[in-house]
Amino acid sequence: MTNNRPRFAAIVFLLAPTLCLAWGEDGHRIVGEIASHYLSPCTEEAVKSLLGDQTLADVSTWADEIKSDRKWDWAKPLHYANVTPGSDSFDLDRDCPEVGCVVSAIERFSRVLRTSGAARFPQPTKKEQVEALKFLIHLVGDLHQPLHVSRARDRGGNDIAVEFFNNRTNLHSLWDSGLIRHTKKPWSEYAAELRAQVKGVKTRYPRTNGKVTEWATESYRLALSNAYDVPKDGKLGQASFDRNIPIVDERLKMAGVHLAALVQDRPYSPKSTLVSQLSTFVNGAQCGQ
Ligand SMILES: [Zn+2]
Repeated sequence: MTNNRPRFAAIVFLLAPTLCLAWGEDGHRIVGEIASHYLSPCTEEAVKSLLGDQTLADVSTWADEIKSDRKWDWAKPLHYANVTPGSDSFDLDRDCPEVGCVVSAIERFSRVLRTSGAARFPQPTKKEQVEALKFLIHLVGDLHQPLHVSRARDRGGNDIAVEFFNNRTNLHSLWDSGLIRHTKKPWSEYAAELRAQVKGVKTRYPRTNGKVTEWATESYRLALSNAYDVPKDGKLGQASFDRNIPIVDERLKMAGVHLAALVQDRPYSPKSTLVSQLSTFVNGAQCGQ
């Protein structure tokens, strides 16, 4: 009984009108949950020092929740990227405007975590590190939703009306949450199922070598090949679901593994603090060195 009140409060909050929740809440939580299984012990410790008892899944939707607060307006363009028409790949210099895009934001927030404790000034404050981590957890999810790296002219499918099993929606929203919702799986169950399918990262903690632009290009190509493949009447049903749910699953898995990789990507810090402790693990040393 005592638990009911906060849960109720959380539900009310989640039902508050929010536009354009990438992957919807479930998709983001699935990505956070998958990633949490691939963190090294030192990274886990560092993440805990920033998030406390909150999990990656818990904070994965924060960056969408703050959109209603004007003080975060500057971060709105950081949830997506548009690719120049006629190109088949994302190009950071060409496609990311000065205000930033999801790719530059991932790099920016990774850098905040990576430089924590490094011999450079100014050092990010703990608050900045916490926000950087929360943004990173969310934006890596966004990046892997094909329609978050897509076309400006239809705002990533937001302006394309479709019907999915006779329910009116728009293409962007269908890919954010409609396809996932149609599986009728609770998100934690869905995450466990996908995690069981992840191969090749069980014995090694994943690493990344700055492939964020490549992940953006993958999303864009999937947007063109699959998401935008809509019949003229806009009616989508079982065939579309069967064709696209494997893509959604694959992107959620990849986002989870890539997120884990980014969080523990090789930072270097002579005087380790918080998140930078993870570098000592990568380099084979002890936590907190
Ligand atoms: Zn978002």
